[in-house]
Amino acid sequence: MNELSQLFDTVNIGLVVLDCELRVRYWNRWMEHYSGVPVERIAGAPLFDYFPSLNSPKFLRSCQSVLAFGNFSFFSQKLHHYFFPFRADSSFTTHFEFMQQSCSMGPLRDEDKNITSLYLTVQDVTELALYEHRLLEMNMRDGLTGVYNRLFLEQRLAEEFERHVRYSRNFSIIMFDIDFFKKVNDTYGHQCGDIVLKGVSGKISSIIRKTDFLARYGGEQFCCLLPETGLASAKLLAERFRTSIAGMTQVCQAQDISVTISLGVSELSRQHASPSSLFERADEALYQAKHSGRNQVVALA
Ligand code: GH3
Ligand code: MG
Repeated sequence: MNELSQLFDTVNIGLVVLDCELRVRYWNRWMEHYSGVPVERIAGAPLFDYFPSLNSPKFLRSCQSVLAFGNFSFFSQKLHHYFFPFRADSSFTTHFEFMQQSCSMGPLRDEDKNITSLYLTVQDVTELALYEHRLLEMNMRDGLTGVYNRLFLEQRLAEEFERHVRYSRNFSIIMFDIDFFKKVNDTYGHQCGDIVLKGVSGKISSIIRKTDFLARYGGEQFCCLLPETGLASAKLLAERFRTSIAGMTQVCQAQDISVTISLGVSELSRQHASPSSLFERADEALYQAKHSGRNQVVALA
């Protein structure tokens, strides 16, 4: 092990060898660096003395299957996030508190092919996980306003529809559209129009709960998904949206701009055969709100 361990100390991956009682036999420099535990201290000690969080039925089962049957196990970051709770690099901590790891485990045998120990490899995949997360976010978000986009909206709606069919959970949506938005663009210019769009979506985002979702449906039309919410509560919330937007003034190029919104509310019920029929109902309510003079809420069961 001595000569090879010089090589193992240079690799950018954690290497650990445990004996059949799960005591540490080998701990490379990478492990020393990220754990802060030097090999002199941990060598010969039970791994769980230093990392009690690893002492889980799942981890033990994997170790046993390696030691008894010579199996190999892989632990993807997507499922497990990490084995060893090493703090993530400071540039990642806004997103991940701990280093995201892909790990593997397998047997080591002596000349007679008897399993004498097991090895663990630990790979830092935090940066990759962050890129993947950002990519997914970009795919779900509207570029201008930062709220969810239509693709996300449709996926989420389909999921909520399934949940409703299976568990009869309450679910409502609010569709809203800025009144006479074309006039905002025509009067103040497209740039100001964009600022108004961001201001309106930002205001609504600040009102809704963490479990609600706001999405830009298209143009100046938005849709808010409200899980666990019945029609009456959704209508009250829509009224709050309406008054907050009507009471808001935005400044663009030294000009005060105020807009109003019209809102349509609908709740998922047995009458809806598909997610799109709920959408159509809310759209119908929005249409009625527009035609009854705008700056108002219409709810349709
Ligand atoms: P209504 O009260 O009936 O909703 O009237 P409206 O003027 O709001 O509706 P209309 O559909 O006639 O016009 C919508 C306008 O929204 C036209 C379009 O150019 C503008 N718009 C759509 N997307 C954007 C965008 O991303 N930025 C800006 N500035 N304008 C947009
Ligand atoms: Mg409009």
